[in-house]
Amino acid sequence: MLASPHLHVDGTWVAPVDGGTREIRNPADGTVIAKVDEAGSVDVARAVAAARRAFDAGLWSTRPKEERAGLLVRVAELLGAHRNDVARIETLDTGKTLRESYIDIDDVIAVFRYYADLVARETDRLIDTGNPAVISRVVHEPAGVCALIAPWNYPLLQMSWKIAPALAAGATTVVKPSEVTPLSTIALTRLIERAGVPAGVVNLVQGDGAVVGAALTGASDVDLISFTGGASTGVAIARQAAEHVTRVALELGGKNPHIVFADADHDSAVDAVLTGVFLHSGQVCSAGTRLIVHESIADDFVAELARRAAGIRVGPGMDPSSQTGPLVSEEHRAKVEGYVALGIAEGAELVAGGRHPNDPRLASGSYYLPTIFDRCRRDMRIVQEETFGPILTVERFATEAEAIALGNDTSYGLAAGVRTGDPDRGERVVRALRHGTVWLNDFGPYTPAAEWGGFGRSGTGRELGPSGLAEYQESKHIWHNTTPAVGGWFSAGPTTPER
Ligand code: NAD
Repeated sequence: MLASPHLHVDGTWVAPVDGGTREIRNPADGTVIAKVDEAGSVDVARAVAAARRAFDAGLWSTRPKEERAGLLVRVAELLGAHRNDVARIETLDTGKTLRESYIDIDDVIAVFRYYADLVARETDRLIDTGNPAVISRVVHEPAGVCALIAPWNYPLLQMSWKIAPALAAGATTVVKPSEVTPLSTIALTRLIERAGVPAGVVNLVQGDGAVVGAALTGASDVDLISFTGGASTGVAIARQAAEHVTRVALELGGKNPHIVFADADHDSAVDAVLTGVFLHSGQVCSAGTRLIVHESIADDFVAELARRAAGIRVGPGMDPSSQTGPLVSEEHRAKVEGYVALGIAEGAELVAGGRHPNDPRLASGSYYLPTIFDRCRRDMRIVQEETFGPILTVERFATEAEAIALGNDTSYGLAAGVRTGDPDRGERVVRALRHGTVWLNDFGPYTPAAEWGGFGRSGTGRELGPSGLAEYQESKHIWHNTTPAVGGWFSAGPTTPER
């Protein structure tokens, strides 16, 4: 599918020195779709050294911001020109529907364009010190060598949220996609190369987290690690980064509440709860996996959800009639099944799904049916832990205060949704929720111009928006005295009485 070799170091596509290869499978049917070269620790060291050399030589960091913006625009144009190929790759690799892959690519194009525009408009910050002889300004400089590590659920999208601002800032990068879904990042790296990025600015290594990822995050020449993935991996990376006092940005998991008040519009609320949790078969960090619904409407609401969930068409992502695809792998499906067994053991009431589809045409893929557990309690593990699959838990509430308390009763804090017909209540509740994104009468959309990230165990730092560019920059204060004169601190006579 994508010709080897697959490592990109110092502007050249190279075979691994001490790595190997991995079979990449299509989760829709288990077939092998690619054999990808993987790095070893020597390959990682070479990639980091190339990024270091490129940074220290100023090959990219010293280019005018208009030139950096121009490269980003060219990448966006190339992605547009290769939209069909890249979407196909993403669907075959992740299992998501082709429609979702097209949405991802259009979002990625928008992100490259957003950062091109933002960096082109960036100015120094002038500070009035009160002294007319002094020009004081804060300038933005690139953070240096950045290790960019992404997960498998939105491979192209999550990596682009990092690469676009890193390149805009003038940083150099070593990019590591998930070993489960490396293909679209290989395609993107080729397009960035075609767009004219200097050698050594974007280096690409493949491989599993424990070997390749850890070699990258432990490298002393890396100045910044930007990681998106699971919370426990984020903790391990933060510990490792502390060794060299490396800057770390962490975008981790979520257990996201979707609160529905009795005065919410019923049909749009049912629709949003379904889409919020079952899109991409629940493999979304911001999936609304925790329905918190007013007790007066709960029975009817859950019955309607269960009826609609049973009608969701699960199937191959390449089939236009599929509404959601398989889970990313057999291993991941086994993890999701473990959570369903746990929910039953904890006493939750299974009202939809809870099994593989019966359709024999889906037998060789890692499919799982949309699953709903009613009568859940906040202390259940199925309510507190990220299952990362198509599982909705339902809790009921009586008062607004109780809804807020339930919505905040999580160690995570990535995203939340609120549905109500009362604007005052809506404002009160969205302000009270401790989550990085809160949707009021909507669920899921985002814009490149608004920050994305989590409170609590969902991470540190922000992607997207101006903060997403600042993540890849250092601030430098330049104090320029335009009329230097003798200060006189030591040349004048004593100013205090002798002791
Ligand atoms: P993961 O943590 O297993 O892996 C993520 C990446 O880290 C992969 O590239 C992996 O190879 C690498 N990695 C693993 N161990 C490593 C180590 N010790 N050192 C360095 N790198 C290492 O996560 P995943 O299963 O690929 O992705 C799912 C998780 O990602 C979920 O928890 C999801 O919520 C989260 N996620 C968060 C966001 C967000 O915006 N906050 C977005 C998408 C996914």
